[in-house]
Formats: sequence, C-alpha cells, structure tokens
Amino acid sequence: VRRPLVAGNWKMNLDLASARELVSSLAAKLPAEPSAEILVCPPFIYLFPMAKAVNETPIRMGAQNLWPEPKGAFTGECSARMVRKTGCTHVILGHSERRHTIGWTDPEGSVHGEDDSLINRKVHAALGEGLVPVFCVGETLRQRDKGEMEAVISRQVVAGLNGLRPEQVAGLVIAYEPVWAIGTGRTASPEQAAEAHRHIRRVVFEQYGGEAAAGVRILYGGSVTPENAESLMNNEDVDGVLVGGASLHADDFFAIIQACISVKDRG
Ligand code: PEP
Repeated sequence: VRRPLVAGNWKMNLDLASARELVSSLAAKLPAEPSAEILVCPPFIYLFPMAKAVNETPIRMGAQNLWPEPKGAFTGECSARMVRKTGCTHVILGHSERRHTIGWTDPEGSVHGEDDSLINRKVHAALGEGLVPVFCVGETLRQRDKGEMEAVISRQVVAGLNGLRPEQVAGLVIAYEPVWAIGTGRTASPEQAAEAHRHIRRVVFEQYGGEAAAGVRILYGGSVTPENAESLMNNEDVDGVLVGGASLHADDFFAIIQACISVKDRG
C-alpha cells in the first residue's frame, strides 16, 4: 500500500517568523501519527531553522533544489549532502519553474533552463545521499493542445530516471504538474489527472517493471485547494498532492491534508 504524501512547495515565499508560525499551527492541528506523510519545502536559507521547527512533529522537510556535484566552484548552489545535513529527507527536482519560468519570459522559454539530463544527474545525486526525490514532470499548454501530453511525459520520465535501479524507482515520488495549472487557478480535471497518472505508471512499468510501478508514488500538483483536493485524490493512481499557493496557509494546507487522508482511509 502506498502511503499518501501531501507536500507543500513554499517557493520563494514567507519570512522566517511566518514560516515558524505556519509550521507550529500546522503541527498543532495534526495527530501524532497521521496516515499521510506531510512535507514542507522551504527556501534553502530557512532549512536549518525549519529543521528545528519541524523536530518532534510529524512534518518532514524537503529542499526545492540541489546541485548534482558534491563540491566545487558552483556559486549559489547547494550539494545533495549539504541539503541532507540540514535535516531534509526529500528534495523537489525538475520543477517546471526550474525547467522554465512562466510569466517571466516566453511561456515556453527558459530562465533556469534545466534539461532532462541535468535533472537526471540531480536525481542520482539525491538518491546517493539518501534523499527522496520529488521528481516533477508535466506538459505546457501548447504541448497539451498539440496532443503531446503523453509523449512529453514519457520523455521526461524516461530521461529523468535514466540509469536508476527498479528498487530506487519504487521508493521515489513523481509529481505530475501540468505547467498550465501551476499558480494559475486552473486545475486539471480529475479525469485529466487520472489519465496522466495512469500514463506515468505505465511508463514506469515498461521501463522498470511491476514492483517499481506498484511502489512509486505519483502526486498531482497544480492549483490544488481545499475545495478540489478530494476529487483529485479520488483515484487509485493519485497518491497525494504537491501544493504551492495553498501550502502557505496553515488552514488550507491542513484542509487539503484532511481531504487526502479521508479519501485514502475510505480506500
Ligand atoms: C507547485 O508549486 O508545484 C504548485 C503546484 O503550485 P500551485 O499549487 O500554486 O499551483
């Protein structure tokens, strides 16, 4: 049975005081052993203080990125070991805002310009340090409109996970985040999410076999709210959600967690 995961991607938001407040009010609402795994992903600079804040709570912490080399002249970057040493258990990799940044330049254009092969090196670096990658994939609106959703996702999954062993794939998290749904208020329908998740699990099955496909957790991300979480989660291939905007408010994030738990507990 795959344990549901509800992950909050804070992106470049919150100051330290409000981050602490968010974690403590969330922790106060959570049972000691929630049936879902709960993750918050603060900016690098808050990881050490947030490790203290999540200590002795059921909340786990992930970074939003890392650099694949172990050390060296990589100004502004952090290695997988540095990330792990802060207390992180997870790391988001291949987020669309690192593959390309919507609203900053051409929507299909690239600011950080991370390609599949760089993201693949990051996945290997994370696993080498015992971090669980939350590996993001998803098509742009133009790609969806051209009927390329499946082809784009296949390419991202195959290239991004290249060279992994099946048991490593079984332990990781893939987040399906249609680029057109991130931060836009436009959510994929439950049917669109289910179709993409089914496709991702099929690609994992073809590449890595049945155990990997049965074990890998696939999250949906893109304008998840307390109102739509339940209908999105209500599918056997949706194992949780990756939440941006709504994870910045303890009440909303908690309501999303509750929705996920109630759907999955119902079986
Ligand atoms: C995200 O950052 O991964 C995300 C899905 O953002 P939002 O929930 O704000 O669309």
